[in-house]
Amino acid sequence: MGDPELVADYHPQTAQARRIPTRLVFWDETLRDGEQMPGVHFSPKEKLRIAELLSAVGIPLIDAGIPVVSAEEAEAVRWLASAGLRSDILASARTVPRDVEAVVDSGVRHIAVFIAASPVHLRFKLRMSEDEVVRAAVESVRRAKEAGLHVAFVTEDTVRARFDFVERLYRAVVAVGADRLVVADTVGVMTPLTFRWYLDEFIRRIGPADLSVHCHNDFGLATANTLTALEAGATAPHVCVNGLGERAGNASLEEVAVAVERLYGVRTGLRLDRLYELSQLVEELSGVPIAANKALVGYNAFSHEAGIHTHGVLAHTLTYEPIQPEEVGRRRELILGKHTGRAALVEKLKERRARATDAQLTELLARIKQRGEQASKQPAAEYVRDYRTRFAHPGISDAEFWAMVDDLQIPTERP
Ligand code: MN
Repeated sequence: MGDPELVADYHPQTAQARRIPTRLVFWDETLRDGEQMPGVHFSPKEKLRIAELLSAVGIPLIDAGIPVVSAEEAEAVRWLASAGLRSDILASARTVPRDVEAVVDSGVRHIAVFIAASPVHLRFKLRMSEDEVVRAAVESVRRAKEAGLHVAFVTEDTVRARFDFVERLYRAVVAVGADRLVVADTVGVMTPLTFRWYLDEFIRRIGPADLSVHCHNDFGLATANTLTALEAGATAPHVCVNGLGERAGNASLEEVAVAVERLYGVRTGLRLDRLYELSQLVEELSGVPIAANKALVGYNAFSHEAGIHTHGVLAHTLTYEPIQPEEVGRRRELILGKHTGRAALVEKLKERRARATDAQLTELLARIKQRGEQASKQPAAEYVRDYRTRFAHPGISDAEFWAMVDDLQIPTERP
């Protein structure tokens, strides 16, 4: 398990607790939950481009969206379903008959049927009783099974629901043929240890199941919680490229996939070397820039400037890099600046077979450090400000909104 070069070999002590299923079904949510991120919108063509690359990467299951949302969304789902991709295409539906029919009509073979489960959602959002939720869920699952679909049953906010109710609800949908059960940490409040307990208890109460998890990143724990779920036996982790998704996003595909391969030593069947290409495509089409320090796909994830680090990496990459950048389709970058040391200069000079004297090296280093300290931060600061004001709050502007209201002659009062 794992790569003994990556971690001190504590695996014998933790092997039992860390055993994860060897046949994982990565369930990509970029085109559904990812697209629900404020301001993100993929056209059917863009969805197809992303789906084609997800398929080339080897993602087994892609949620294409919710067909009942709009005619365009339904068209996108139909397109993906008929595009001949190697990935299975799934579409999502509330436990509402017209949602389920829209999925059936879209030509996909997989459906995710979802309804909320926690008291706060039932009371304030759905205004439904537990009995009503069970009835709606059972009817929808039964109808989807009749239509010949593979059915995943999802509850929103599973982990904040009463466990007795969760047990009753999931047992009821299993009884009518639900194929896969999804536990959702919709607002990202689980911690790894708590989630482990939760999932063990879920399996104890409901019985062995094809278990899937949907983890959000509100506390930055989505990837950790997803890995914990795999340790508990879940086989179908929900992931999004670049960790896109509502609010702080979902577990990121690249983090979960590379961790599974390199920290757990389990083959995913995915083309990890194409993850960066995928990440960049989604960054462009979503318009959501990747944080510089984002794991694996951030611009800095394989960059070094500090002298000690550069020296170490040049001597042996494992000193300061857990994996080779090429494994995820990237290249190492050595940045020259304030923190640069001599080793980086010697390496850089090799590009042109330049041989400098010690005195020249010292002077070159002094100039680079000085230049690094004086470098203008203006362009970066401008970009950040520009992004904040122009792009970070996308959607319809207030002015546009009130113009539409006026256009429809809706009476208003100025505050
Ligand atoms: Mn979600």
